[in-house]
Amino acid sequence: MTRVLLATRNKKKLAELQRILDGALGANRIELVGLDDVPEYPELPETGLTFGENALIKAREGCRRTNLPTVADDSGLAVDALNGMPGVFSARWSGRHGDDRANLDLVLAQIGDVPDEHRGAAFVCAVALVLPGGKEHLVDGRQTGRLLRAPRGEGGFGYDPIFLGDGQIRTNAELSPQEKDAISHRGKALRALAKVIDKVLP
Ligand code: IMP
Repeated sequence: MTRVLLATRNKKKLAELQRILDGALGANRIELVGLDDVPEYPELPETGLTFGENALIKAREGCRRTNLPTVADDSGLAVDALNGMPGVFSARWSGRHGDDRANLDLVLAQIGDVPDEHRGAAFVCAVALVLPGGKEHLVDGRQTGRLLRAPRGEGGFGYDPIFLGDGQIRTNAELSPQEKDAISHRGKALRALAKVIDKVLP
């Protein structure tokens, strides 16, 4: 089995990627490990101005520190009426890192006067793979849709309760995890990553 580091401490992200890789490549091909499974190193701040830059910053550092092929992701919501923001600042838009409700409320307030036809938005996810030899690969996935005026649904996280994907009648927070995976930015990016891994790793 080829060991690959996913530069995260989030167990759900590890399980999600392992599931997608097993489905795409067979169960005994890639052994995914997380930051809790390798010797600790100080993590770099996410200073990039794009999702791709942030994913690369994290993947390069993980590979440099562990000498393992390293995957890292960065994602967020790009709102048309806010010129693509909150973008890379999605997790800390309200000023408090990870306060999903405050972040969502601020976006709703900011676009309060924006009419329905201009409430387009997209979830974007970039995933980087950096190999010990220095080779780098970057893939991404998008889910386009529009923002509602009030939250709906209890599932998902972040901005899911106000996001209605194109062609959907339920918000992302009203979908089952499997339904969301099938159409989400992360699902698309991770399936693209599985194809890259299949080509470049033994
Ligand atoms: P990350 O974990 O650094 O990639 O930060 C992602 C941030 O973007 C999260 O804190 C959410 O605010 C937002 N985000 C990313 N993906 C999703 C999603 O699938 N649903 C809702 N919000 C998301």
